[in-house]
Amino acid sequence: MTLATVPRYNPNPPAEKRGTAVVTGASMAGLLAARVLSDRFADVTIIERDQLPTEPVVRRGVPQGAHPHALLEAGRATLEDLFPRFGEDLISAGGVVVDFASDVNFYGEGDFLAHGLTPMETYSATRPLIEQVVRERVSDLDGVHIHSGCQVTDYLLDDTATAVEGLVLRDGEGHMELTADLVVDATGRTSRTPAWLESHGYAPPEVEEVHIDVAYSTTFIERPADDLRTFLIPPSAPHTRGGMAAPVEGDRWVVSVHGVHGDHPPTDSAGFVEFAASLLAPEVKHLLEDYQPVSADIEQYPFPTNRRYHYGYLERFPEGLVVIGDAIASFNPIYGQGMSVAALEALMLHHTLSTGGREGLALRFFNDAEAVIDTAWMLATGADFAFSQTTGPKPRGTDISRWYLSRLTRKAHTDSTLSSAFFRVLTMEQPPSTLLRPGYLWRVLKPTR
Ligand SMILES: Cc1cc2nc3c(=O)[nH]c(=O)nc-3n(C[C@H](O)[C@H](O)[C@H](O)COP(=O)(O)OP(=O)(O)OC[C@H]3O[C@@H](n4cnc5c(N)ncnc54)[C@H](O)[C@@H]3O)c2cc1C
Repeated sequence: MTLATVPRYNPNPPAEKRGTAVVTGASMAGLLAARVLSDRFADVTIIERDQLPTEPVVRRGVPQGAHPHALLEAGRATLEDLFPRFGEDLISAGGVVVDFASDVNFYGEGDFLAHGLTPMETYSATRPLIEQVVRERVSDLDGVHIHSGCQVTDYLLDDTATAVEGLVLRDGEGHMELTADLVVDATGRTSRTPAWLESHGYAPPEVEEVHIDVAYSTTFIERPADDLRTFLIPPSAPHTRGGMAAPVEGDRWVVSVHGVHGDHPPTDSAGFVEFAASLLAPEVKHLLEDYQPVSADIEQYPFPTNRRYHYGYLERFPEGLVVIGDAIASFNPIYGQGMSVAALEALMLHHTLSTGGREGLALRFFNDAEAVIDTAWMLATGADFAFSQTTGPKPRGTDISRWYLSRLTRKAHTDSTLSSAFFRVLTMEQPPSTLLRPGYLWRVLKPTR
């Protein structure tokens, strides 16, 4: 499911709020979960291991924050629904507005796609700034508290081990226990829930992994304030290298190069430029030549696998516990989906609570979230399976979808109708099935003169 198929946020929550919820992890998924829970729980506490910064800086628990974070339409629109005037807040904090239809230059199948037909504005900013603006909005909510510098070390279960009743925590002063009516795990890819379930007598969830072995190297360069050009040049099989540049706050471009299947980019300046020169299009290299570096720092981040846990397949799962965000599924970051998937999952949590209440919440939520994850998973792993080196369970229909998408992409070099439709799918606004509508099908399949 995508933005168009998940019902939008209902801004008229019930008058009565009751009980306590605890969310573990104050990154994007945790903050968004806390936002929707604050409509229904009188007290929502977020537990975060890091000491949270007051400035938008990369922190230890979110090291990927040093790398570009595209905010896709599904994430942008959901953030705007959950935090009215979110965009204004982000822009006044320094973020910029980019038009996906005209500022973004997306390379695929041998050329850049035609610019889109109608404006598709989104926000561009560093990940720490996006998170900081969201965190400030969440901190302002009635009944929400963020407890930082505190690590979750286990779940507290009831005597019959059928329900999670709280958490075991450790902070600078030692261990403590915190009880809650609902616990939401948003601790990311390193979530301990599978292990803790096992230690409490539950089967762990089935895990599915697609190996892509990608690594990012990222730096920042100076940018003229009015230059909003954005370049997305993903790897395209058999070429394992990709790169991107996006305008961010502080009149900078964040510039990243990445390589899949072990073709990892270097972290020294000369090697970085050389790697950028080997991309399928020269625009990122040109930016590096034309503009000064902001600093000599180049950060690297390895990401071995797309990974999803099938919590929805479990026959037994404790009441009072839900898992969300990267802790359920994380995707090859080249496709920029993680924050938007977290936003749609938070929206699903809002609807699951609205329609069925708290009883049996987890398994209902996992089933609903699975529909969001399926779409993102299909898009990310579908592209990854273009590489013969990619291993893991291949979703059904991958090869035919890839054949169709690659033909569509070639036609979209000159056909703005197709590029607009493609961008709406890429940004998780519309489901991939929209690309099969007769009007598009005909444009894709008609023979090229
Ligand atoms: C290189 C890279 C680039 C990316 N680019 C994009 C992009 O362009 N667009 C996009 O939308 N997404 C992108 N993502 C994905 C995005 O970063 C995540 O999907 C997003 O942050 C949501 O993750 P999360 O909140 O579930 O977990 P995380 O961001 O991993 O946060 C987990 C939080 O839990 C805390 N924590 C962990 N363990 C404990 C514990 N025991 N107790 C208390 N707290 C704990 C951590 O400190 C952290 O704050 C990228 C990811 C990577 C790796």
